[in-house]
Amino acid sequence: MSRWEPLLAVQEHDTHADQLSHRAQHLPERARLREVEEHTAALDVRLAAVQERRGELARSQQRLEDEVASLAGRADQAEKQLYSGAVSNPRELQALQDDVASIRRRIGQLEDDELEILELSEPVDAQLAEMGAERARLEAERARVADELAESEAGITAELAAVRAERAELAAAVDAALWPEYDTLRSQLGGVAIARLVGSTCQGCHLGLAAVEVDRIRKLGVDEIVHCEECGRLLVRG
Ligand SMILES: [Zn+2]
Repeated sequence: MSRWEPLLAVQEHDTHADQLSHRAQHLPERARLREVEEHTAALDVRLAAVQERRGELARSQQRLEDEVASLAGRADQAEKQLYSGAVSNPRELQALQDDVASIRRRIGQLEDDELEILELSEPVDAQLAEMGAERARLEAERARVADELAESEAGITAELAAVRAERAELAAAVDAALWPEYDTLRSQLGGVAIARLVGSTCQGCHLGLAAVEVDRIRKLGVDEIVHCEECGRLLVRG
């Protein structure tokens, strides 16, 4: 076994760990979670507008109710005076009667306005109920996806811990002099610093080496440093 074999085993674990990290960063659950949160945010914007409209209607209704109550008070007051016997002048009595009739008419108009507002409120309330249900559905979906995401992350974290523990054991068997070049090549070549030469093919770049180069390499001892002429990675032979 050459001195490169333990380093190649480390490489395999580093590659596995890189894949797990990549998978952790690109979990479909995370994209789905973002999507659900975007839908919720968009719904909240529309919901706020409808709630604003509902609030306006409620305030209008309250204003009408207050005005009706105040007018009803005035009408009651005038009627009380009318029937108290305190006023005997026919002209004054007539004026009071006219006053009461006019107030009652005004109350009737305001009550019609109130009915109109109630009618306008109905579809708005229905819309609010629909949006509330949609929001609850999105909230449940968010919670479900968040759980799935946490589960996937926990699975990857556990797998990553196992890979790293194995890697640490393997690393102990690696010739310390090999680390600097391994680390440099790994950072320069997409995480893969060392690969096996199978036949005339480098397993790092999957390109075939020239026959002359393969011949030259075959004559070297397995512990010699050999780089792939195509990609520059360390080649493991034997
Ligand atoms: Zn190569």
